[in-house]
Amino acid sequence: MSFSSDSSQVPHVALFPSAGMGHLTPLLRFAALLLRRHHCRLTLITANPTVSLAESRLISRFLSSFPAVSHVQFDLLPLDSSTVATDDPFWLQFEATRRSLADLVAPLLSSLSPPLSALVLDISLITPVGSIADSLSLPCYVLYISTARMLSLFTYFPKILASGFSDASLKIPGLVSPIARSSLPSMMFNPTSLFANIFLTDAPKLRRLHGVLINTFDGFEADSELEALVTEGKVADGGPYFPPLFSVGPFPPCKFEFEPDPESNPSAASAVSKWLDEQPEGSVVYVSFGSRTALPREQMREVGKGLILSGHKFLWVVKDKKVDKEEEEGNIDEVVGKELMEKLKEKGLVVKKWVDQGEILGHKAVGGFVSHCGPNSLVESAWHGVKILAWPQHGDQRVAAEVVRECGLGMWVESWGWLGGDHDPTAAVKGEEIGERIREMMGSEKLSLKAASIREKARKADEVGGSRDKVFERLVHEWKNKK
Ligand code: UDP
Ligand code: UDP
Repeated sequence: MSFSSDSSQVPHVALFPSAGMGHLTPLLRFAALLLRRHHCRLTLITANPTVSLAESRLISRFLSSFPAVSHVQFDLLPLDSSTVATDDPFWLQFEATRRSLADLVAPLLSSLSPPLSALVLDISLITPVGSIADSLSLPCYVLYISTARMLSLFTYFPKILASGFSDASLKIPGLVSPIARSSLPSMMFNPTSLFANIFLTDAPKLRRLHGVLINTFDGFEADSELEALVTEGKVADGGPYFPPLFSVGPFPPCKFEFEPDPESNPSAASAVSKWLDEQPEGSVVYVSFGSRTALPREQMREVGKGLILSGHKFLWVVKDKKVDKEEEEGNIDEVVGKELMEKLKEKGLVVKKWVDQGEILGHKAVGGFVSHCGPNSLVESAWHGVKILAWPQHGDQRVAAEVVRECGLGMWVESWGWLGGDHDPTAAVKGEEIGERIREMMGSEKLSLKAASIREKARKADEVGGSRDKVFERLVHEWKNKK
């Protein structure tokens, strides 16, 4: 790249991820780009213990692939869960991390050597770490793990809450189309929930940051939406002040994520790619609801029926528990139902374990993705040009499904319910309808063409010297000059 190899000129950046693979993975992919293409020195700061095994394994693989990275772990203080309005283990970890860091972070950051040039944080750490960064005069950036659309909502949340959510659609300055009120997670409507509370406390603190980094690129989210956030450091039309936005995506899945884990069974890992190798090009529907979403069993059985009725081959990743440490091995028949499982085996592959999603989406046999719309899954699908049938389940996923529909990467059946939303959580979407919609998605030439064109744009942004490198160069320049 364009800067000198003089080590005094190498910026030293500390990276602070938060809980869950959806937060850790993008930060480590960002780190890999900084190391490989932009020659930075990095310190990774993580909470001990992690919530899931997937996280601790990924951290180990990352560190063995990049031995020059320093790793600092801090122990989490015990959290009295009666003081926190959530039972979600990942959200409890967010809160435990926020509280544990309050006293720890200043001595921890000051002890790092050589002195830091900048900090890059998960959004959930803006309160405990952001203010310390201020007092240490350290430039501080957030790596926002969701879509620019969700970021607009986050920025605007205090205003929206104050207005009482009276409109069915929320008009946010700069957004081409409004966000549907029904796309907001129910927790947001409850001002005492942890989710709403974090949003209320944190949104006004965005102004303190030197920038917000986001895993997106031109051609994925509407350019004008990004511009509205990025231009001149403020949202248009009298919106809240906003720090500069850096489109640092797309983050390609990295090699270190795929290195076989000595603890897992290597022959089991290769069974998926072996099976995919035997399927015709574009014939397989891949079905996954991400790293932390377990569908109710009744709904899972309807998904199984739908897959059979779709008439397509499928690769379905079943998840029965939110946290992988609690998954029981070998009970797939019990989860899906023995009889249904026998039928499923004739038409596709059903697994209940961690899979290499990057590799699956990149396999030529895969022609479509039934996805919960976790923001990382969306960018991975865009990266590989795989069209999507969106089935958001919670959190930011309906807002992400709006992005899928708008950019044309996929289709979304808005009436399908989500976990803990306004819809009746006991009303499972029926297999007949699931099968029909899968046929519609898989048969759509229009979606295939659009997905292929989005992939082209993602690859273009990724080229050496391309738009993403330019954004990184801007960042590295700032860090060297510590503006
Ligand atoms: N993932 C994977 N294998 C799995 C489940 C998930 O590789 O079996 C990865 C997926 O590729 C993505 C991340 O885990 O990078 C999940 O993040 P996302 O934002 O898609 O959804 P979340 O899991 O946070 O709901
Ligand atoms: N989020 C946020 N501030 C926070 C924590 C989370 O803006 O302090 C956003 C996060 O980026 C995502 C959404 O809230 O857009 C949902 O968070 P998460 O993915 O952890 O929850 P999930 O969707 O998995 O329930």
